[in-house]
Amino acid sequence: MNALLFAAALLLAQGPVPAPPPEAILHNARVFTADPGRPWAEAFAVADGRIVAVGASRDLLALAGPRTRVVDLGGAFVSPGFGDSHLHFMSGSLTLNAVTLDGLTDLKEIQARIAAFARANPGASWVTGRGWNYGAFPGNLPHRLWLDEVVPDRPAFMQGYDGHTGWANTKALELAGITRDTKDPANGVIVRDARGEATGALKEAAQGLVRRLAPKPTDEDKYAALKAGLDLAASYGLTFAHNAGFDLADLPIYERVMKEGGLKVRFYNALPFRADPDAATIARYKELRAKHAGPLFRFGAIKALDDGVVESKTAWMLEPYAGGGGTGIPNYSIEELNRGVAAFDREGFQIFIHAIGDRAIRATLDAYENAARVNGTSGRRHRVEHVEAPQSAEIARFKPLGVIASTQALFANPDENTLGAYAGALGPERASRAMAFKAIDEAGAVQAFGSDWPVFSMEVLRGIYCAVTRETPEGTPAGGWQPQSRISAEAALRHFTADGAWAGFNENDFGKIAPGLFADFVVLSRDITRGAPKDILTTRVLLTVVGGRETYRARDFTAPALPAAGK
Ligand SMILES: [Zn+2]
Repeated sequence: MNALLFAAALLLAQGPVPAPPPEAILHNARVFTADPGRPWAEAFAVADGRIVAVGASRDLLALAGPRTRVVDLGGAFVSPGFGDSHLHFMSGSLTLNAVTLDGLTDLKEIQARIAAFARANPGASWVTGRGWNYGAFPGNLPHRLWLDEVVPDRPAFMQGYDGHTGWANTKALELAGITRDTKDPANGVIVRDARGEATGALKEAAQGLVRRLAPKPTDEDKYAALKAGLDLAASYGLTFAHNAGFDLADLPIYERVMKEGGLKVRFYNALPFRADPDAATIARYKELRAKHAGPLFRFGAIKALDDGVVESKTAWMLEPYAGGGGTGIPNYSIEELNRGVAAFDREGFQIFIHAIGDRAIRATLDAYENAARVNGTSGRRHRVEHVEAPQSAEIARFKPLGVIASTQALFANPDENTLGAYAGALGPERASRAMAFKAIDEAGAVQAFGSDWPVFSMEVLRGIYCAVTRETPEGTPAGGWQPQSRISAEAALRHFTADGAWAGFNENDFGKIAPGLFADFVVLSRDITRGAPKDILTTRVLLTVVGGRETYRARDFTAPALPAAGK
């Protein structure tokens, strides 16, 4: 029975009555609510997929009726469901079936991993993969000859961990017809050696010259990948995510999974930005926004890339990179950015702009400020994605402009790449203000955490550990990289829950354990706000619930199952 209808029927019949007993009461837990009015609780009750009461175990148990499922959580830790405010879910899901080079710091290891994949897939016409780090290569860039050593017989293409640089072997360059005479495409660079020959490293848009030739995954491949990605996300405690870029070719795949009831994560999706959107584009985007309005799947955001990345020195900086290489390249002129932002702002869209360099961050904030002024709009909650090396003057502008800082906890993972190629290109002064999570919090900005998966793992607990320690899982460097930017586990949890919900206009739907919101929550094996930060790494997700329905349960978690959702 629909609890709300039931209550309404009673109300009509006999005036105000107490609400019917909840379907489930979860008690004896340490509940982090992310609700500033009541940050901690012991218990909560669920009816019809929503939270109906929050409080002390004793008070909540008093609400139980004869058919209420009472679940003793045995002191486990509960958080609102985790949200990833910036990822690329289909690309991430598709990487689950290709070579993954994440975390490898040595060229020999990288070659061995690729060779093993090539051996195991002799029938594949191409060998593709992703995830290498700049710091693993001599000179911080890959070379085709190293890929030829392990894949000499067919084309191979490996994308860097950040998606901004590709690595092709000789066969792939030949197939793409890239010779010493090939011109660099717009917004891209074919890296060449001293003799002018392509080295196989392809920056930004130059990757497309090779990548477009690789076999495309079929719709069935994508469907299977999406389902695998959803299972993985649920196992990490994710209940919502923001797709920072959505390929409309993938829409039927999502619709199919949603129709089957298998969409285990709520998605908010960003459509591609144009500096001068035509009427047809605006009309199409508005139609998608009206058709998919949530709560499981929703459009309403626009995504632009204003600059590149630090390691390849394409992020747009105020001052030149350390060791030469200019100040990076914006993808849009100031006028184009202002025009496009104002056009989408006028139509009520929220805008996500990738801006990593301090110059790009400034240009992005300027464009948002300009749009509000020329359109007379407010409350759009536009976002700067990544915010990697901001000046403090820019950090101070987020709150008054109502702009959200969409940052990625694991970007601060101080591996060889971060400490080497990344910090090296920034130089010490800019490196000291990189991934300034603490300063952003202190400036009062809303900070929503994400992973940028497949750039980094979407494992939220790994992200929280990194934000808290700024150490690698091995504990290096001791005391943390730029330790002044560490934040508490509680702050990191808020950035992965309530702040992410706010960043997607969902604060009245989820992101907190509070009456009226969806029963979206995660049960962890221990309280990550207490004890040694190192213990966050061994903390396990026991249960993930979306709208009162279980989407993940650890095999050894024996608490009674929740009742099926109302509908
Ligand atoms: Zn991204």
